[in-house]
Amino acid sequence: MPVLTRSLHYLFAPIIIVFLCIVAIQQLALTCQNWLPKIEQLPYYLFGVSALLALQFNSARITYLSLFLLIFYSLKQGAFIADDLVIFSDEQAFLIGTFIIAFLAISKDRSLFSMHFFKMIIGMILCALLAWGWHVAINLLASLPPKKISDSLSLLLSLYVPIGVACIVVCIFSVWRSTGTDSTIAITLFVWLFGYYMPDQLPISVLFTLIGIAYIYSILAKSYHLAYRDELTGLSSRRALNTVALSLNKHYSLAMVDIDHFKHFNDTYGHDVGDQVLRLVAAKLVKVQGGGKVYRYGGEEFAIVFENKDIEVVLPHLEKLRKKISQYDIVLRNEKRKLTSKADRDVVDSQNPTVNITISIGVAEQHGENSFDNTLKRADKALYKAKDNGRNCVFA
Ligand code: GH3
Ligand code: MG
Ligand code: MG
Repeated sequence: MPVLTRSLHYLFAPIIIVFLCIVAIQQLALTCQNWLPKIEQLPYYLFGVSALLALQFNSARITYLSLFLLIFYSLKQGAFIADDLVIFSDEQAFLIGTFIIAFLAISKDRSLFSMHFFKMIIGMILCALLAWGWHVAINLLASLPPKKISDSLSLLLSLYVPIGVACIVVCIFSVWRSTGTDSTIAITLFVWLFGYYMPDQLPISVLFTLIGIAYIYSILAKSYHLAYRDELTGLSSRRALNTVALSLNKHYSLAMVDIDHFKHFNDTYGHDVGDQVLRLVAAKLVKVQGGGKVYRYGGEEFAIVFENKDIEVVLPHLEKLRKKISQYDIVLRNEKRKLTSKADRDVVDSQNPTVNITISIGVAEQHGENSFDNTLKRADKALYKAKDNGRNCVFA
């Protein structure tokens, strides 16, 4: 995915959605005031649930964030200790939270039940100390006579520098990693800043409720992804195909695609190159025309579903696909490639040997009451025929 699309998908769109939610809630709050106090308890439940769910799905960073926000919210609401016993000022707590969010944006999701747990706790404590020290330095500077400090030093030691750095770090990592968890961390920072700089706009209970919902949504989306996406190719998985099969209407065409002699390919070039080829074939398959939806059926087999399409309509598209894949020169990349620039890479690629692979395709059409299994069997039979016919062809 290009950086622009990734930024839109994983950074700007989630933040814009949360911003629109905030605006909508503000409008709602103007007309209907009495529901606001009722949601004061919600962040406790939401963060509790998200911490536990995140633990289950190995999203350790969401667990840490949920617990941090839960503690912060409890202190803010005076749930455990009285307000005057809290040793941090609002500004200090804000800076500590900002540092911790940025630290979690850089970190990786590693098991909580390992040595990493202690490393993360130490990392977060160091962030808190750094933020606290920074705040002390800001206050110290503010207490000095203005002439004793240069403008650049006072700007450097202002709140804007760490906050600006934190924003840049969080944005870069959310676009670079492009995962739901990293988008959620970007949302956390956005709402955290919004709550601090615009405290009169919405109560913290509402803002934290929004973050809690975002956490639970991101964990559920991740679990859906794990269940319905193939990790290697990024395509929808066989389980997704089985689910779609239940809701398909009575008219569609189904193509079964199989890479030819792939075992031999793996044996010759190694499993890693085989994996690269599977990704490449998947990337070519998703470009199929005619509205086909591609699934990784298993191993080196793929299924393409063309809803509401006759077999005569899809055959030319499949033939085009087969031809395109068979004509594609796969460059066998070597390790040197990683170390070179784009221009050098092209030269290295041009010196490397290329190989070609072919696919065989079997197609069947569904019209009327036949079950999906029946159509699948017929497509499979057509695939066998294509293999028997010498491979690298489409059979119906
Ligand atoms: P045919 O033309 O008859 O389809 O022959 P084939 O060798 O492609 O078929 P076969 O079923 O004998 O072998 C399929 C091979 O696909 C075996 C396995 O090594 C390879 N394969 C399956 N899944 C993966 C994977 O995820 N990664 C890699 N690299 N190889 C895989
Ligand atoms: Mg095969
Ligand atoms: Mg096969």
